Amino acid sequence: MRRRIAVVGSGPAGLTFARVLHRHGHPVAVLERDPAPDARPPGGTLDLHKGLGQLALDKAGLLAEFRALSRPEGQAMRILDPDGTVLRDWRPRPDDLANPEIDRRQLRDLLLGPLDVQWGRGVTRVVPGTPDGVLIHFSDGRQEAYDLVVGADGAWSRTRPAVSPATPRYTGVTSVETSLDDVDTRHPDLARLIGDGSMAVYGVNRALVAQRNSGGHVKAHAQFRATLDWHAHLDLADPEAVRSSLLALFDGWAAPVLELLRHGTTFVHRPLYVLPVSHTWTHVPGVTLLGDAAHLMPPLGAGANLAMLEGAELAESIATVGSADPDDAVRAFEEQMWARAGKWAKITTAGLERLMSPDPADAVALFDEVQAS
Ligand SMILES: Cc1cc2nc3c(=O)[nH]c(=O)nc-3n(C[C@H](O)[C@H](O)[C@H](O)COP(=O)(O)OP(=O)(O)OC[C@H]3O[C@@H](n4cnc5c(N)ncnc54)[C@H](O)[C@@H]3O)c2cc1C
Repeated sequence: MRRRIAVVGSGPAGLTFARVLHRHGHPVAVLERDPAPDARPPGGTLDLHKGLGQLALDKAGLLAEFRALSRPEGQAMRILDPDGTVLRDWRPRPDDLANPEIDRRQLRDLLLGPLDVQWGRGVTRVVPGTPDGVLIHFSDGRQEAYDLVVGADGAWSRTRPAVSPATPRYTGVTSVETSLDDVDTRHPDLARLIGDGSMAVYGVNRALVAQRNSGGHVKAHAQFRATLDWHAHLDLADPEAVRSSLLALFDGWAAPVLELLRHGTTFVHRPLYVLPVSHTWTHVPGVTLLGDAAHLMPPLGAGANLAMLEGAELAESIATVGSADPDDAVRAFEEQMWARAGKWAKITTAGLERLMSPDPADAVALFDEVQAS
């Protein structure tokens, strides 16, 4: 008898899990809160590492298609002083495939492929140990029972309370994201400043980071230490008010760098939250977590990579046991996930401290250390 499996969430974790199970011929219900694939802007670009996200895509049989879509040149990194001096200008070799970039929308569509996601199915609660199995409650009042429920529903997971009382805490660092279109034709000086990949400018306890996506689109983040209510006297829905506030915060920085804020269109506030480093839980039969739901960490290039590899590994473990009870496989998977994610959580937590530092030289030193490693 086939086990009834559901995954909550169609982010990188949920889709990779479902796609690898699908490859092994195992049905899975993908339950997504968003009413449609493009209900929300998909977010910026992701770099997929060779031993993490790319390995997951290999397990899904999608590595060749990823190579065709991704941008190896997007690995380029420029670091500037707030006065505009270029401190580092690193460019990858043309054959460097260690961490190519891909737009989130492209990655999502690649993973979606033949999957039949159930859109508009917001989960409110997951209750293990009922006579029918694990019960999922939906926002429309319906309920469904499964043998295994995989929570891949991100930072504010509704599945997580079934296994753990942990909740995300604010890091003290916030981020305001803005976007620019057609930079090469509309803002050529800025396009040159950013280069083929990313540009980061580090100041005292703050940074401006810009990342090139495909099609001349740029996402920029103003990051700074602040209390959660820093915008109490600001209307976040008013782009001009947010722009003025950010320009005041980055006052004195070089004019070419501030063009990012002057030309940005919309502004989205994204305070950075994390789960405790090395978050684990006592195993609960029939429920597990993947990705941000399990180990939300600072956004320093690991989260989506881990989420995808976990999705692929859990799917393979389940496929291996066939129609037998997958509980032992899930337990073993959790141990492996906790060990690896714990290491990355420590690295990214320490990294955020150094990037948002009173001494901006610390951020440049971190970049040099990563390059040398
Ligand atoms: C600015 C920024 C830049 C980043 N850059 C990188 C990078 O370069 N490389 C990298 O590896 N990581 C990066 N990350 C981290 C990465 O985005 C996350 O770690 C990754 O998206 C986690 O994937 P996930 O599938 O676990 O969760 P998510 O991507 O959050 O997906 C969760 C899904 O679950 C759905 N959902 C939520 N609640 C419910 C519910 N109740 N019912 C049903 N569905 C639900 C959501 O709609 C969503 O589709 C970045 C993060 C940020 C914020």
